[in-house]
Amino acid sequence: MTRPVTPTRRPDCGYGRDHLIGLRGACMRVLLVEDDDGVARAIVDVLGTYGHRVHRCCWGADALLTHREADLVLLDLGLPDMDGLDLLRKLRRITTVPVVVLTARDDERSVVRGLRHGADDYVVKPIRLGELLARIEAVVRRSVAQKGPEPELVRVGDVCVDLRAWTVEVAGRAIRLTGKEFEVLAVLARNLGSVVSRERIMDEVWGDAYVAISRSLDVHISGLRAKLGRPELLRTIRGLGYRLG
Ligand code: CA
Repeated sequence: MTRPVTPTRRPDCGYGRDHLIGLRGACMRVLLVEDDDGVARAIVDVLGTYGHRVHRCCWGADALLTHREADLVLLDLGLPDMDGLDLLRKLRRITTVPVVVLTARDDERSVVRGLRHGADDYVVKPIRLGELLARIEAVVRRSVAQKGPEPELVRVGDVCVDLRAWTVEVAGRAIRLTGKEFEVLAVLARNLGSVVSRERIMDEVWGDAYVAISRSLDVHISGLRAKLGRPELLRTIRGLGYRLG
């Protein structure tokens, strides 16, 4: 794979440390995946004017490594290293972050495919910046409204996971886990009763969903099963991932 000569420089507009989940007037961290310098500059400028912090990357591979910090992803479908729809599918296996697709492909089929692959909305190029802002705000508003507060204690059977204190008890007895084992368990506990893909666990725990650490995950799942002693609570869902509860 040959990476393009330009653009190579990231605009100096990384995420700030202080942030608020954005609604109108509040600062949002936006990941812009766009290889066209002119389009990117215009979007960075207008979002900056409204107080949002934009981190821009040109390649899909970079987006997979930086999406965790974002409140919203703006995704161009024509990227130098992978098809934007493939990237969208990969992102959807690991994150529920809102994604607005930017596409020059204004044919209905591309738009429908984008939405089926998990886009929350789409904007057809050439982009009208006012419309883009309004769509971003609407998508984030919906996403914030859907998100409940993070649980602190998760109980399943006689297993109690304290996500704040990083402790686990089984039948009232404290269980010693390694840090990584606890992180794997925490991802599953936050999604109690739902299947969590292997890629999402690897992304949240190791920071990269698509590197060769699959065996490491298997080892940690085995360790967890052995220490919890409740194999029926931590299930492998073949071809999909794992489920707690
Ligand atoms: Ca492009």
